[in-house]
Amino acid sequence: MLLHIEAYGSSALRKVGEEVPEDYPQIQELIDNMLETMYNAPGVGLAAPQVNLALRLFVIDSTQFYDDEEEEDEQEEEKGIKQIFINPKIIQRYGEETSYEEGCLSIPGIREEILRPGQIRIQYYDRDFNFHDEQFDGLDARVIQHEYDHINGILFTDHLKPMKKRTLQKSLNDISQGKVKVHYKMRFPKQQKKRV
Ligand code: ZN
Repeated sequence: MLLHIEAYGSSALRKVGEEVPEDYPQIQELIDNMLETMYNAPGVGLAAPQVNLALRLFVIDSTQFYDDEEEEDEQEEEKGIKQIFINPKIIQRYGEETSYEEGCLSIPGIREEILRPGQIRIQYYDRDFNFHDEQFDGLDARVIQHEYDHINGILFTDHLKPMKKRTLQKSLNDISQGKVKVHYKMRFPKQQKKRV
């Protein structure tokens, strides 16, 4: 089932998520719905607050970054990750900071260069509540940090310099009012009800 994605300005995007208990009702169904919603948009990541749930849960499929590559890989190694992160904890951020143009399903049409540390170490549970302690770099580390921000009520635009953010303010207001072209289901917090 496709879920509505909360647009910029929604209070849901500002809530700090709560830990997901192992017996959370219909967690598998929720994860499947989040994956379906992410792929439909399409996006490479989706966090629970974006579907109006204040939970420490996000889904990522960064393999989509590499799908377009035509070249035949000599290495068998798979690029990108397809993973569910439950109750994640980034315990270390390290490596050189890199800049990358990020976007967000909650902020359609806006992409901006964001600086983030290049490598992370993170502990999390997968959808079967198996514990993992892993290190990521490159685009995987980037997407994880973006989604991890979401479960702490932080958006990528929060990382912009004040002057840059001011130049975007009108576009951000337009998004919260639903004045934006988007091809997936969204809920706009400041949309005026149409008069009949
Ligand atoms: Zn996002």
